[in-house]
Amino acid sequence: MNKSEIVEILSCTDAGDFFKKADILRRSRLGNVVHLRALVEFSNFCKKQCLYCGINAKNTKVKRYRLSAQEIIKTAKYASETGFRTIVLQSGEDDFFDVKKMCLIIEKIKEFGVALTLSIGEKTKDEYREYKNAGADRYLLRIETTDEILYQKLHPNSDFKNRLKCLYNLKELGYELGSGIMTGLPGQTTDSIARDILFFKDIDVDMVGLGPFISHKDTKLRNFPDGSFELALRALAVTRLLMPDINIPATTAMETLLKDGRKIALKSGANVVMPNVTPAAAKGNYSIYPNKQGVDALDTVSLNKLKEEIASIGDSISEDSGTSIHYKK
Ligand code: SAM
Repeated sequence: MNKSEIVEILSCTDAGDFFKKADILRRSRLGNVVHLRALVEFSNFCKKQCLYCGINAKNTKVKRYRLSAQEIIKTAKYASETGFRTIVLQSGEDDFFDVKKMCLIIEKIKEFGVALTLSIGEKTKDEYREYKNAGADRYLLRIETTDEILYQKLHPNSDFKNRLKCLYNLKELGYELGSGIMTGLPGQTTDSIARDILFFKDIDVDMVGLGPFISHKDTKLRNFPDGSFELALRALAVTRLLMPDINIPATTAMETLLKDGRKIALKSGANVVMPNVTPAAAKGNYSIYPNKQGVDALDTVSLNKLKEEIASIGDSISEDSGTSIHYKK
């Protein structure tokens, strides 16, 4: 698929056939299997000023929290005992967690025999190397948009070139690499989304997370409309069609925008769900956008509902850690 073919899918009147094709392709290449990742949102402190994000440094209304190293490790232990084979540690860009603290947490969590993904933002190559040496397997860093001008508008104290460099560094260090975008950002075009998707193929990612932009009232983008569910779903299906063997999550943002959004995404090319295991006292404050509708993995009813949902579309839950079959060490 070239750029104009992708744009055509993103903007045609009915993309139903593409959703079906993406579903068939996912099932034929990756099986009728969904991988679960236990997500620990361990700090909402952030030094960045991303215009769209509810936990950006400038938002004084958000209640800031940090889990202690012990709490993070205990939460990961609990998740591994509950059956999760992958733990994802995510946070704002919080320098309180320096390399030494992170490496200790990583080493302890790796003792539970799980795969470990980090999503803690832009760091130096040396820092990424130290996390890798400590045992981190995967890294998730969305490029957010490959349109450099748009990127700079949305990220006042960030540098697009540095974000790119981070992705290349992570790749070089042998991480299983995840990236992604938000769709429906103010000023974004379908042409730009098509270029984003081609970029993911070009840098040879192992995972792509796509979600609609959701407007947050305490951010500078408060007056802009949410992205559409349909556009996010189309971008997801195209990503699957272009990259048949990577992992693609049905993101929380998709479930937030539309009831059953996660199920629809799983039937249109996605193969991963990330239930949230963050302790209840902290959870509500990781408010990157309003009404976040994730699966609460600490709530048995919510987790069982997810299991039923997955069974209802003919899938089972994977029992392994779900390393992307695309990933080459
Ligand atoms: N700080 C890390 C980083 O920069 O990669 C990880 C945390 S960051 C909050 C996780 C993701 O949340 C971002 O990559 C962004 O795509 C998403 N996000 C933030 N605000 C959002 C919004 N208003 N709507 C949809 N997604 C949003």
